[in-house]
Amino acid sequence: MLSTDRSSQNSGHRYLPQIESSDATLSPNQQLLPLTAKVNSDDNLEIGGCEIKRLVEQYGSPLYVLDETTLRTACKQYRDGFAHYYGGESQVIYASKAWSCLAVCSIINSEGLGFDVVSGGEIYTALQAGVESQNLYFHGNNKSRSELELAVTTGCQIIVDNWLELKTLTTIAQESSTQPVKILLRLTPGIECHTHEYIRTGHLDSKFGFDPNQIEQVYAFVSNQPTLECLGIHAHIGSQIFERQPHQDVADVLVKWLKPAQDYGLPMTTLNVGGGLGICYTESDDPPSITEWVKAVSEAVETACNHHQISLPKLIAEPGRSLIGSACVTAYTVGSDKEVPEIRKYITVDGGMSDNPRPITYESVYRSLIANKMSAVLTETVTVAGKHCESGDVLIKDAALPKTEPGDILVVMTTGAYNYSMASNYNRIGRPAAILVNEGEANLIIERETYENLLERDRLPERLINSTNTPN
Ligand SMILES: *Cc1c(COP(=O)(O)O)cnc(C)c1O
Repeated sequence: MLSTDRSSQNSGHRYLPQIESSDATLSPNQQLLPLTAKVNSDDNLEIGGCEIKRLVEQYGSPLYVLDETTLRTACKQYRDGFAHYYGGESQVIYASKAWSCLAVCSIINSEGLGFDVVSGGEIYTALQAGVESQNLYFHGNNKSRSELELAVTTGCQIIVDNWLELKTLTTIAQESSTQPVKILLRLTPGIECHTHEYIRTGHLDSKFGFDPNQIEQVYAFVSNQPTLECLGIHAHIGSQIFERQPHQDVADVLVKWLKPAQDYGLPMTTLNVGGGLGICYTESDDPPSITEWVKAVSEAVETACNHHQISLPKLIAEPGRSLIGSACVTAYTVGSDKEVPEIRKYITVDGGMSDNPRPITYESVYRSLIANKMSAVLTETVTVAGKHCESGDVLIKDAALPKTEPGDILVVMTTGAYNYSMASNYNRIGRPAAILVNEGEANLIIERETYENLLERDRLPERLINSTNTPN
């Protein structure tokens, strides 16, 4: 839970993780800062035993700082939660679109999780990180033929989204695979909860998945394909969800749809309820803990299975954001400022929409602090702007901060999910470096892009090389 300690309420301390009772375990998705965050004797923020200011001195800014303990704790809470609350077999798979890189995949692989991958690039990254292909689940609503071939030849399981894919896959399987290709079917659950905003990918008007009204046709088709082995069904209803009910509902409809598969002789034993558990971006966000969510989903599946009298399937959940979101912060250096009298004060940092496109894309809200002045009283309300050539390049509106000066280190919290993975080179700004911190050790896991990197794939046609600016 977030800190409510009065003495620290008006400083950056208020974001520090606080254990309220001695035996409580913190759920990473309910924290704004990584679990190892603390303030050292120089009034500086440390994460994973590393001082943020010193990391910036060494590696420059902007800088993604990823805390290994927080990431591993989230993996463990999901894994142990299912082992404890679910009576059947279970598997947690990381939605790697949240942040796919070798180090992240390697850590999560070592925690025994599988991977949800949505492109040839994500398959390649996971395989290069040492993930075994049987732990890869290939998603996507428009997988290319070459991506499907890659998935089949490497031995990934495939979550089939639509008829075209089903037919293409049948052909590929006939041509190139000696073993039947393991598939799951993605269905659009059509969960109607009119009052809730969370109906994003699960409602019937969605680009994802088979229409459940066609489910029997799909089962009939698949049951006639000896080259496909249909293991189960999948649904994903959306992201940043704070209620438990929608996932309980999805568990219920999926179990209901598993049942008719038996009539087609399909040995379907897997049920994948997707991801979507929300995280705290601000102190007013209130998601259930990872353990509470796992318990609710497990119980819903068991109840539905009892009701429909089917044996417990292998249960898969595929969280992304709640595994990695709060494990990472982005550190920036404060630069220029501008006061618009009686309207607002801007302070500018050395990154922005290229390293965190979520505010400009989704109007996402973030919290920040000044890492080198953790006890300073929050006297200012400022707008934290990026350095890109867009007026909309604002990371945080109305941030409560102490008085800042150029050179201060501003940390934006909860930037682990959908930040690096959505980063761009807009304005030809190289993407930041990422550092993994753990017990006082800092390792570079992604290098900062240099000017040379930015030109690496540019090609200048011969006839332009010696051209002058005088038209002939
Ligand atoms: C994005 C996505 C997830 C992960 O969602 P989070 O909200 O990050 O947990 C899981 N499954 C599918 C199919 C997705 O598209």
